[in-house]
Amino acid sequence: MPRPRPAVVMTVDDVFPGKRNAPFEAGGERENGALGRLLWLLTRHPALRLTLFVTPDWREVSPVPSSPLRHLPWLRDRCYLAPILRKGSMDLRRHPDFVAFLNALPRTEIGLHGLHHIHPGRRIAVEFQQQDVATCTAMMREAIGIFDAAGLRFSRGLQPPGWNLPPALRAACAALGVEWVTSGRDLRTPVHGDAMTAEGFGLQGSSLVFPQRTPEGLLHFPTNFQATSPAERAFEILDAGGILSVKAHITKRVPGHTHFDGVDRLYMNYLDRLFHDIEDRYGDDVAWTTMGEIAAGLRGSEGFATPREPVAPAVAAPSVEIPATALPEPRRAAAA
Ligand SMILES: [Zn+2]
Repeated sequence: MPRPRPAVVMTVDDVFPGKRNAPFEAGGERENGALGRLLWLLTRHPALRLTLFVTPDWREVSPVPSSPLRHLPWLRDRCYLAPILRKGSMDLRRHPDFVAFLNALPRTEIGLHGLHHIHPGRRIAVEFQQQDVATCTAMMREAIGIFDAAGLRFSRGLQPPGWNLPPALRAACAALGVEWVTSGRDLRTPVHGDAMTAEGFGLQGSSLVFPQRTPEGLLHFPTNFQATSPAERAFEILDAGGILSVKAHITKRVPGHTHFDGVDRLYMNYLDRLFHDIEDRYGDDVAWTTMGEIAAGLRGSEGFATPREPVAPAVAAPSVEIPATALPEPRRAAAA
């Protein structure tokens, strides 16, 4: 089967109009916040392109259960176990300046990141869990409707909140014309052309380095690299002819949780150095592109990996805070 030339894509989750302390900076400070740091990276690497996964009406304040109700059986599965924002407060239709800023970002694609980014029960950030196809369809239709009404230009792609991409959500996406999804995050499985996502979060049993169709016909992209990954993993993926799929989260620290791959200066510095090394090492042999662009080029094809097993059940991200571990050693950036 023909394979694409190696490519680099970078996606950033959890973008919404949040500002400092309202409830936290998630892009709302525009060039003065995390989006400014991404703009710096884009300026440093003129071929780099980004996909921002934006939540149409973000309501999560913390992904960690804090309510006393969390101790009560039955009830704890039916209530929100942390404070949440009022519906509509972060609705993109009420933030036209933010939408205009996103639309004006250079070399940046927008994808869907759920509807509200909340769910009752302990796994607060895992928005799609047990809902049936009709409910998933209604939620995704509302999400797309908000993007359309807000005038936000976007690619028909979804990163489900909390990574979980159950069959009902996949069916809803297929019915609504969502073309591509990204769910399986695997940072540890050794890299080779036939490697499948086997641990970490989200969809398992899908190619670790190539886009691949789900049974519903959606093109699935893995996530195979983040702040804690060594540069050697990036080179192994590109040497295998695969897609280096770099993940970031727009906010470093949210109440109760720290994202290893938050868009802080340390991670941007690491990526700056890594991207320079890729440019030096591979030159024009590597494509700098986006998931949406790859999906558009593969319309009607099977993707580049052939499923050997039915796609395995997804694994959702835990709701508890992950203890901090060391980030990669900071590397010195060349003078900007
Ligand atoms: Zn998210």
